[in-house]
Amino acid sequence: MTELERIRHSCAHVLATAILKIWPEAQFAAGPPVENGFYYDVDLPHRIAPEDFARIEEEMKREIKANHVFERVEIPRDEAIAMAERGELAALAPRETASRFKLDIVRNIPDGEVITIFRNGDFIDLCAGPHVMRTGNIGAFKLTHVASAYYKGDENNPQLQRIYGTAFKNKTEMEAYFALLEEAKKRDHRKLGKELQLFHIDEAVGQGLILWTPKGSIIRQALQDFIGEELRKQGYDQVFTPHIGRLGLYRTSGHFPYYSESQFPPLIDRETLGALAEEGCSCSELSNRVAAGEIDGYLLKPMNCPMHVKIYASQPRSYRDLPVRLAEFGTVYRWEQSGELNGMTRVRGFTQDDAHLFCTEDQVPAEIEGCLSLVKTVLSTLGMSDYRVRVGLRDPDSAKYTGDPADWDKAENACRNAAGTLGVPFTEEPGEAAFYGPKIDFVVKDVLGREWQLGTVQVDFNLPKRFDIWYKGPDGKDHRPVMIHRAPFGSMERFTGVLIEHFAGNFPLWLAPDQVRVLPINTDDEALMAYSQALHADLRAAGVRVSLDASGDRINGKIQRAETEKVHTMFVVGKRDMEAGAISLRVHGRGNLGTRPRGGAVEEVLASIRERRQA
Ligand SMILES: [Zn+2]
Ligand SMILES: [Zn+2]
Repeated sequence: MTELERIRHSCAHVLATAILKIWPEAQFAAGPPVENGFYYDVDLPHRIAPEDFARIEEEMKREIKANHVFERVEIPRDEAIAMAERGELAALAPRETASRFKLDIVRNIPDGEVITIFRNGDFIDLCAGPHVMRTGNIGAFKLTHVASAYYKGDENNPQLQRIYGTAFKNKTEMEAYFALLEEAKKRDHRKLGKELQLFHIDEAVGQGLILWTPKGSIIRQALQDFIGEELRKQGYDQVFTPHIGRLGLYRTSGHFPYYSESQFPPLIDRETLGALAEEGCSCSELSNRVAAGEIDGYLLKPMNCPMHVKIYASQPRSYRDLPVRLAEFGTVYRWEQSGELNGMTRVRGFTQDDAHLFCTEDQVPAEIEGCLSLVKTVLSTLGMSDYRVRVGLRDPDSAKYTGDPADWDKAENACRNAAGTLGVPFTEEPGEAAFYGPKIDFVVKDVLGREWQLGTVQVDFNLPKRFDIWYKGPDGKDHRPVMIHRAPFGSMERFTGVLIEHFAGNFPLWLAPDQVRVLPINTDDEALMAYSQALHADLRAAGVRVSLDASGDRINGKIQRAETEKVHTMFVVGKRDMEAGAISLRVHGRGNLGTRPRGGAVEEVLASIRERRQA
């Protein structure tokens, strides 16, 4: 346990102490630290509500102020059972009823394991620890919410109240945490996505399936264009592949039937289904026969790789052709449990910024470096300079890995060296490699300091073998290429979701769905309207996403609306601007920036878009 986890878990003991002071009959189950806090499960006739928190927190403060020592005592199993039977565990004193959950827990502790109790003040709990030294080491805490949970997560067990809280070393850290939560709530991509009309999820279409609305599509297209441009500079070839492929293809790759629980079920053609129905084939028989390969069908593609392998294999390849770099914004489908789905960041259909590189072993280092330099360019353009990489290496003690150990050494070194050239922190994680090769994962920190796992670069010795692909070497013989899978930003859905939160919806000009709006001060002035329309037409002709607010509203209302809609740049024009051949410039969130000559202002906008400037 980290120090923070010890603080939080210790605070759970203090929570139980306080609850017992108010409701001595409370029965406690488990109280572990969790991400961002802790909870304690309690069975109590009184339904604890947020209105009770102040009272409970008062008691907790008293316990912390008393600065009781967390005292650890090893006890024999019999004694632990006897204490539980006397109602003394997770209690302040013996009680009429047994500490029933603790009794169950003690009985399930394997023989030979040391059993310990911890005491703080009057409270005694069965617990393996560890804790902080004293209750006073809990610097700051707060109860946050109540949920319900079944004992041991089993719905056949009684339902308990799960009281959540959080704790920190000091008040400053706790306040920073809650300020961050507040800010994160404002930036939630699900909320902003709706307000700014960036995407839509419709029950009628299906859970976890993203409908990209016009404004969100603009952002996605701008990102794809940007990434695509960089890929062309790096010598990638664009390909397109279908959304479904035959089961046999995924049998060869190993994706089916091994990962079937994370895939949509196979599609079987109508004739086959009809024939099977006549035979009286049951659903489970059908499913078994599909899995066994007796019946063919199609799969909504869970991965693009096998299709790119087939493009590679569609013609003879020589060492002179290598590396072959095939890129596709390829849409794949995975079956996520509905409880796991979350806006754009956990979905069932998504488009990967995918590519597969086929190269010689010697080319692996340069190709990995190429992948990393792409990531660096894209992230720095987006103002996400704070990121780290994790290098997944093989577990030296395991025999599960495919491929020649010498090749592994080379590929692992290549990953390590490439990560080292990035100039960002990286960690090596033995045992985190896939069975078919080492990999590099990207984790970016957004402006709030939250970490997001994006995509990966993976070296693969396995798929080339499974599909038996070759290239002709300089020696005239056939050689097996190495394959590199890379989707550094993960998927367009996830990446866009992360960007919405990173920018809080205030996209830089080149990504902003509404780049410029022309706001004439007086719509009754015909000359001014003509000036505004000409400005609008010029910007549109130059490819800018521009609108004209020709409503009769007062200018403050127009500005207000444009700010709410997060229009990036506003050209406010009045009679005086027109006469001077100028505009008054406003930028979203930055207010009025003063008068600019018309031509210069347009040129500035175009330059900012072209150069993909951050502001
Ligand atoms: Zn404990
Ligand atoms: Zn792949």
